[in-house]
Amino acid sequence: MTNVSPQTKINKIVSLCKRRGYVFQSSEIYGGLKSSYDFGHLGVELKRNIADLWWQDLVHRRDDMVGFDAAIIMHPKVWQASGHLDGFSDPLVDCLDCKQRFRADKAPRHPAGATITYQVKNMEVEGKVAACGYVCPYCSSPRLGDERQFNLMFQTNLGAVNPVQDLLNAISSDDTLTLATIRQRLRKINKGSAVYLRPETAQAMFVQFMNVLQTTSKKPPFGIAQIGKSFRNEIVTEHFIFRACEFEQMEIEYFVPPDSWRKWLDYWCEQRLNWYRGFVNQPDNFRLRQHEEDELAHYAQACYDIDFKFPWGWDELEGIASRGDYDLNCHQRLSQTKLSYFDNQAGKRYLPYVIEPSAGLTRCVLAVLLDAYEESKGIDSHGREKTRVLLKLSPRLAPIKAAFLPLVKDEGQIKLARHLADSCRQQGVHVAYDDNQSIGKRYAKHDEIGTPFAITVDTQSCQDGLVTVRDRDTTTQTRMAGEAAVAKVVSCSSNLR
Ligand code: ATP
Repeated sequence: MTNVSPQTKINKIVSLCKRRGYVFQSSEIYGGLKSSYDFGHLGVELKRNIADLWWQDLVHRRDDMVGFDAAIIMHPKVWQASGHLDGFSDPLVDCLDCKQRFRADKAPRHPAGATITYQVKNMEVEGKVAACGYVCPYCSSPRLGDERQFNLMFQTNLGAVNPVQDLLNAISSDDTLTLATIRQRLRKINKGSAVYLRPETAQAMFVQFMNVLQTTSKKPPFGIAQIGKSFRNEIVTEHFIFRACEFEQMEIEYFVPPDSWRKWLDYWCEQRLNWYRGFVNQPDNFRLRQHEEDELAHYAQACYDIDFKFPWGWDELEGIASRGDYDLNCHQRLSQTKLSYFDNQAGKRYLPYVIEPSAGLTRCVLAVLLDAYEESKGIDSHGREKTRVLLKLSPRLAPIKAAFLPLVKDEGQIKLARHLADSCRQQGVHVAYDDNQSIGKRYAKHDEIGTPFAITVDTQSCQDGLVTVRDRDTTTQTRMAGEAAVAKVVSCSSNLR
């Protein structure tokens, strides 16, 4: 593989995603919305394949897990109990020099009082790092505004009337409205009809714990698994789909007897790391990192991240936390509903502890694309240097499992290629029929989008039924019967490697 620099690699992925139909900027024709993305015909398949693999491995292959699919908008008390209303915030800071806005907890650290050199309007200046111990991530200036807490939850209002609009209308048409009245009405809006788009899928699984327990007859240790959209009004959206305001999560709440939390935390860390390593080309680019004491939430006994080596450095793909009985306890208290479990054998009632492996599906799509991207230099048939781009996706995750290609647009070849493609489709395997452009260009296109097999039908195929199966990764070509090629595609599409 040729050496591709990290920044170039992410740019190439972004470009490939748009060019081929993996990911598009949301609302592009209106200038785009930086914080949201749309998944095209290939992106949606890759995302679904990752989600299906997760669901199959974590729900269908286990006896101790049940699936769940909650509403995005829940009772506002859910967020009051969980602490999100008061505490789900990031520290927001404004740079007084370049005017950029950033997250204090992600800013570059320097010792307080250290002298730092930075640029203002192309001039080099010196400054001292303030007591906060960080500088602006964009221009390195230590001249910063105060830290403010910024709640990440998107708020909206339930009901046929928009009370905020009503108030605005009242303000513009009624000069007698006092500030006190406006404040009072705003408070009423917040208390009355305000609801929130969920910032994580997790809370619904705590809130419905008793219903799940009673309808499934499960007993700890057991888990609830859910895949779904979450929304966060992020201060900074960054690195393409890595941090967006609308994204998907794959979360598990695993309920265990309190005295066994350590064992189960270790178990889930190992399971989850091995899960990623099972379908990628470079398993060493996935690691487990234990949180420092000062990173831990006040209720967490311990927390680990599964990091991926992104082009900008190691960064989080999944968090695995031991949350104790914090969530069940909070909801039990505010709702006045018993959420404990009675252990018949031990004859005691307890609130289970929770281990939470919480993964980002959207982030996983990016990691899988980065892991699969390869380039190599070669010479084309005219003797010119060419770059071969290869997306080395596991066949299980590849959006299209095989491309059926008539060598030329001949009626017999088209008919046979279409027939073989349909045989795969009837077995539920997603394949493509493609007769556009030269065969070389079609091979290159399918290498670039990660199609594991290109199956070519030629003049001879129409007589003997044999086709050429080209392997994406090795480019070796094997002649075999059309039916055997179909069987190969069908069996490989359920394989991880
Ligand atoms: P970060 O530190 O990157 O902001 P987090 O620790 O707040 O992430 P969690 O609350 O633990 O994230 O959420 C679980 C997972 O959800 C993360 O590991 C990540 O994969 C995904 N995730 C969180 N926020 C976003 C986002 N804005 N865009 C895409 N994925 C996200």
